[in-house]
Amino acid sequence: MRITKMPVSPIGANCYIVSEGTEAFIIDPGGDAGRIIEAAKNLNVRYILLTHTHFDHIGGLNDIAEAFPDAVTAVSTFEEEWLYSPELNFSEEFGDPFVFSGKNCLKLEDGTALAFAGTKIDVLHTPGHTPGSTCFYMENYSDPVLFSGDTLFRSSIGRTDFPGGSGIKIIESIKNKLMTLPERTVVYPGHDDDTTIFEEKRLNPFLKRI
Ligand SMILES: [Zn+2]
Repeated sequence: MRITKMPVSPIGANCYIVSEGTEAFIIDPGGDAGRIIEAAKNLNVRYILLTHTHFDHIGGLNDIAEAFPDAVTAVSTFEEEWLYSPELNFSEEFGDPFVFSGKNCLKLEDGTALAFAGTKIDVLHTPGHTPGSTCFYMENYSDPVLFSGDTLFRSSIGRTDFPGGSGIKIIESIKNKLMTLPERTVVYPGHDDDTTIFEEKRLNPFLKRI
């Protein structure tokens, strides 16, 4: 499996292009759509997955969905309406109002499994940063991988002071859904550097009380 990490405009959120052979999915096309399209142009993009719908994770979504018309856009059932509200997705605040031009999304719930390249992507609902924050986990590879969005970062956790955020819920989510994954799981967050569950269990100052 190949994972290409691409920090994108406007504030460097990590977009990921994940491929197995020619099958692929894209996580959080926050901006710089042209670069993402160029990098994925020879791939059969099956899904566009959103860890949540803050503007810096969805800004390139319309262009990406148009460039890969067969790809299914998938978002938490708790945040689908945020895609259509510049106020809720915060794009208005940053001066570039975003409204999703697509009509149909696949609505994700905790426990949803998406078929991909002979294996599956498990959907974990991890509210706290936002009500619909979602992590994507793939266990069927020698090193399991987790795309953690803005829920878990290397030595940090997501902010919970935005509307709909909850400091109690994010800790519960991390404790019950993420720290229970195999320690060798490689974590690819929505900002900054990769980490592992092993490292975060031992070094993350926000998880000391778990
Ligand atoms: Zn966010």
